[in-house]
Amino acid sequence: MVETINTLVIGGGQAGVATSANLRKQGVPHLVLERDRIAERWRTWRWDSLVANGPAWHDRFPDAEFTELDPEEFAPKEAVADYFERFAGDRNLPVRTGVEVTKLERHGSGFRATTATGTIEAQNVVVATGPFQKPVIPTVISDPAITQLHSNSYRNPKALPEGAVLVVGAGSSGAQIAEELVRAGRKVYLSVGPHDRPPRRYRGQDFVWWLGKLGKWDMKAPTPGTEHITIAVSGAYGGHTMDFRRLAGLGVTLLGRAGDYRDGVLNFANDLRRNMENGDANYLSVLDEADAYAKANGLDLPEEPEARVLRPLPDCVTKPTLTLDLKRESISTVIWATGFKLDFGWIDLDIFEGDGRPRHQDGVTEVPGLYFMGLPWLSCRGSAFIWGAWKDGERLAGLIAERG
Ligand SMILES: Cc1cc2nc3c(=O)[nH]c(=O)nc-3n(C[C@H](O)[C@H](O)[C@H](O)COP(=O)(O)OP(=O)(O)OC[C@H]3O[C@@H](n4cnc5c(N)ncnc54)[C@H](O)[C@@H]3O)c2cc1C
Repeated sequence: MVETINTLVIGGGQAGVATSANLRKQGVPHLVLERDRIAERWRTWRWDSLVANGPAWHDRFPDAEFTELDPEEFAPKEAVADYFERFAGDRNLPVRTGVEVTKLERHGSGFRATTATGTIEAQNVVVATGPFQKPVIPTVISDPAITQLHSNSYRNPKALPEGAVLVVGAGSSGAQIAEELVRAGRKVYLSVGPHDRPPRRYRGQDFVWWLGKLGKWDMKAPTPGTEHITIAVSGAYGGHTMDFRRLAGLGVTLLGRAGDYRDGVLNFANDLRRNMENGDANYLSVLDEADAYAKANGLDLPEEPEARVLRPLPDCVTKPTLTLDLKRESISTVIWATGFKLDFGWIDLDIFEGDGRPRHQDGVTEVPGLYFMGLPWLSCRGSAFIWGAWKDGERLAGLIAERG
């Protein structure tokens, strides 16, 4: 069966839904194909207790509020998925679920998408298959006695075997998982690489508010290829600043960047102190910029000098552990919170760099009619986040409507 449509959107996460809503506003006939359910990754690729990293007033589309939540609350992941499902349902957006595109290729002046149930031909295609597609596990630990999982498969402390847990990676996922595990009474080791760690709140405002005021959400990528900065933030337990000293105080042993593994021993770089100090410098720079902004704009916000007081570095940082004998430390589980890579193997078009990233300018590729949505730094820092996807969707829908 061959179906034709003006614009095909592939992927029904927030980026696909945002694109669809904006195409509808522009009157562009379109279809969204989603292989699972709407916002599936919020449902099944994330741990049970996850809440949004930004408060409900911020982590949403401008067109719809989280009606059942206080604006300052952090939406639980199921509420986030329900929100997108309801958003699409209320607007009767043309999302067809349970259909995977297995091949996308050029066809005449447009494109042909292959699915198990038929072929779809379109003049325009928006690929919205996610910023985080394939889990990355950087090191091989060849010990069948150790349970290893990526953060996308972690669910809750009870689902792990008894014993200590090593969490590798201290972005938002790794830091939040480590905190949940230590609070559940586990012995936890956390490998901390380079990271940013903005304050959760400062002078009465959430950091997402400050990033907006300081123009950081709209920031362009500093240098191509250096886009990914690990950011450690958390909305868990009502939201708090991710300070690794506090985690050490709860009993987490901090380690440097994980290296190679041999004969039961995992090695760590001697970079923990530097990573912590750079993280502190990032934290303090946000306070400095916020203060300068408040002064320049005459904002009447309560001063907060105590936010600048940092506790001394814990012993595990000043006297770092550089090797870990996993058996001796009774480590039964390693959780790799080490990020994701892109996987566009199903797109048969010559638009990819050697590292698999598509060539594009703010989501517009060199192939007329082909667009990407939702990728990290697609047009700016906010692109892979909920409201950023809306802005990109609005802009790309406008371009598609012009193109016809
Ligand atoms: C742990 C975690 C927490 C996050 N928390 C926040 C947060 O609090 N706030 C925030 O703004 N952002 C957050 N993000 C970032 C971002 O919002 C999410 O990653 C979000 O899921 C990205 O939405 P998306 O639509 O771009 O991609 P995805 O949610 O990945 O959606 C892509 C969809 O495409 C489908 N698909 C893929 N390939 C095909 C195919 N070939 N055919 C058909 N369908 C296909 C997938 O099934 C999927 O449903 C978080 C990310 C992670 C990993």
